[in-house]
Parts: sequence; C-alpha cells; structure tokens
Amino acid sequence: MITNFHTHTNRCCHAEGLEEDYVSEAIRQGVVQMGFSDHAPFPDYDFGFRMQYNELNDYLSAIEQSQRKHKGEIQLFKGLEIEYFPHYQNYYRELFDKYRLDYLALGEHMYIDANGKRKNIFFANSTQDYIDYANAVCEAIETKLFSFVAHPDVMFTNPFNWDSSCENASRLIIDCAEKNDVILEFNANGIRKNVRAYPEGIRCPYPHKSFWEIVQKTNIRVIIGSDNHIPSQIHDDYVRKAEQMAHRWGLNVVQSIDFHSYKY
Ligand SMILES: [Zn+2]
Ligand SMILES: [Zn+2]
Repeated sequence: MITNFHTHTNRCCHAEGLEEDYVSEAIRQGVVQMGFSDHAPFPDYDFGFRMQYNELNDYLSAIEQSQRKHKGEIQLFKGLEIEYFPHYQNYYRELFDKYRLDYLALGEHMYIDANGKRKNIFFANSTQDYIDYANAVCEAIETKLFSFVAHPDVMFTNPFNWDSSCENASRLIIDCAEKNDVILEFNANGIRKNVRAYPEGIRCPYPHKSFWEIVQKTNIRVIIGSDNHIPSQIHDDYVRKAEQMAHRWGLNVVQSIDFHSYKY
C-alpha cells in the first residue's frame, strides 16, 4: 500500500504545484492515502518559507474539493507541518477545532533554546545546541498535538562529527517518542538532498544511521515521508531508497496512521 503524509504545495513558496496537481499525480503513482502537510502559517508572525495565514482557508478548501472530486480513488487528509512554540497552544487547538485539520506533523525547524531565544536548527553553532533542540522536540511531543515527528534527525544537516551530544540528543528524542507512542518519520528528502562531505565522511544530511540504530532497538513506529516539493516526487526513487534503507536498518515501518487515535 503506497501512502505519503508529508506533502507540500506551492503555497509555501519553495514548492511547485497546486493541491490538485499533487492529487492527480499521486493517483497516477498508485498512492492510496495522502496527507497534505504544507508549512503552516502563524496568525501574527511570518517565519518565512511558508503559506500566508490568509491562505489557510484556500489551502484547506482546495484539499476538500479534491476529496470530493476523487472520492473512492484516493483518501486525502488535511494536515500541516508546523513548529512547536509553547505560546501558540490555543492556535494549535484552533487548527483542529475550527479549521478541522486531520493532523499536525511536528516540523521543528525553529525552536526555543534553554535561554528562551528562538533558534534555527539548520544553523547550529555546535552539537551542544542539539540538546536544547531535543528538549524542544520532547516538549512538543508531550503535548500530544502531533501525529508524527517529521525528520527527527534533521539536526545532522550541520557539519559536525557524531559525538556524545549527538548521542544524548538522539536518546532524548527517541525515549520521549517511545514513552508517548509517537511515530517518527524517516524522511526521503534528506536522501534527495544527496550525499555531502561531512567531517565524519560522505553521507546524506539525514536520515543519520547512528540515530536510527538507536530507534532500531525500540518498537517505535516509523513512517516513510516523501517531503515532496514537486508532484513527481510523491513516490519517486528517493522514497523507494528510503523504504529500502529503513527495512535494511531493521525499523518498524508502518504504512498508515490512524489520525483519529490522536487526541490532544
Ligand atoms: Zn519545505
Ligand atoms: Zn516538510
């Protein structure tokens, strides 16, 4: 069964194609369940590289239109990929209660560090930053607002060697996910970004093998996410490669997510 719950649209300004373009391509590729998870806006602040708040209704109604048009062909879900900031508690709840979202995926690109400062994980100063990052991810997981953690190992994009901080940060996230029975995403876009030269050798930014070796020792459910920004990428060779890697690394891969089992 081919599924994908990490799909972007051109509303985030760094992807191509409208909702319906993704749906028709998904049907063509044999996808039976697809969740839209475009980068979420916040009502009072634009963090960049995401849809505008005043586009949210259009985004959701476009998905609903596709749901009606393709009933019986493909099951579509309304989601958003979003960061967790504690002061937006009411907004996250509103996304479910007022906007009738099916799910939120935690895409923690920005986070609040131990000093209360907003940081971007793509620009870590050292692996020491990963501990604050992991704590922010754990705080988010504990709210039960999120159905899965998108690219939980995205921090390894930074050009540092694996060290005890990497290990400790990974364990924080993995232990918390296990305790809260939350799904971790094995993200194909990290493979799509291709291998790069890191101090520790040639590898993809993520998925990072050392992170997933810890996950492998648990029963945590793992979902493959395409994180596609172009319709043709929905179930492309990189997704197939991610599937192979996840199986080779002995992960507990699941195909589907029961969104109704998540109650914040
Ligand atoms: Zn994106
Ligand atoms: Zn994404």
